[in-house]
Amino acid sequence: MGTYAVTGAASGMGRTTADKLRAAGHTVIGVDLAESDVVADLSTPQGRGAAADGVLDAAGGRLDGAVLAAGLGPLPGKEATIAQVNYFGAVELLRAWRPALAAADRAKVVVFSSNSTSTTPLVPRRVVRAMLAGDAQKAVRGVRLFGRAAPAMLYAGSKIAISHWVREHAVRPEWAGAGIRLNAIAPGAILTPLLESQLADPNQARAVKSFPVPIGGFGDASQLGDWVVFMLSDAADFMVGSVVFVDGGSDAYFRPDAWPRPVPLRGLARYIRRMRSHARRR
Ligand code: NAD
Repeated sequence: MGTYAVTGAASGMGRTTADKLRAAGHTVIGVDLAESDVVADLSTPQGRGAAADGVLDAAGGRLDGAVLAAGLGPLPGKEATIAQVNYFGAVELLRAWRPALAAADRAKVVVFSSNSTSTTPLVPRRVVRAMLAGDAQKAVRGVRLFGRAAPAMLYAGSKIAISHWVREHAVRPEWAGAGIRLNAIAPGAILTPLLESQLADPNQARAVKSFPVPIGGFGDASQLGDWVVFMLSDAADFMVGSVVFVDGGSDAYFRPDAWPRPVPLRGLARYIRRMRSHARRR
């Protein structure tokens, strides 16, 4: 049986994941604003430091896996907090926990992305770049011109940034090379307290309900917990750097031919560089 850290463990998909892991006999160290083993506010650097240390103390220096589910939806006026929790609240904890994950045998990490990454048009690249560069304030400034759409842009930007971070780091020697399987899950609209609060706001409810979901309805939080547990299991030993969409078909509906795609001309130089560098390491 393993030891798993789960952020956002007090509600929604983090909670269903933690419950399922515990029911299977694993030890779960939950992190959340309240009602958790480690109570910490991931919107501040101090809170993130306390969460990272609290989990490491409780785990005794070894983690078989981590689930980064804490996050906020596109709440008006909360742009800075969205950036802090959704992006930095995952990246900073993973950096701190990496040695404990490397100390386990075949550790698995699942980071919560979202299908807003590929279904929100016009998210400025500078917002994503700012987050990846560690500059939350610049990311927030980057969406100001969008007015009422600013929270949605920042939310999608935070999820694009965390997905890029996962794919960039998953293949590195410190992650894949240390035996850690780092992946992301990208849910569509899942019926959790986060979605319920969006549905309680008439403007947001209209946008949510009119959004195309080919299979219909909303996703089930418990089923998403099953997906995460599967991505933490031995079945995922060969899964590295994947962003798994579980979204009722919205991503495929909007961009049926955008992926998979051949290496584009502008990616060719990087492709050749990586082939050569891999050959040198062999
Ligand atoms: P939820 O609101 O039910 O749970 C999120 C949890 O994160 C809560 O327990 C909350 O307290 C915690 N959290 C928020 N801010 C925090 C902070 N500052 N410090 C510590 N913990 C904090 O939401 P959910 O729907 O289960 O969302 C889980 C993840 O899935 C989030 O990252 C969300 O962005 C993502 N997501 C959700 C949906 C959806 O439709 N529900 C869709 C795509 C992605």
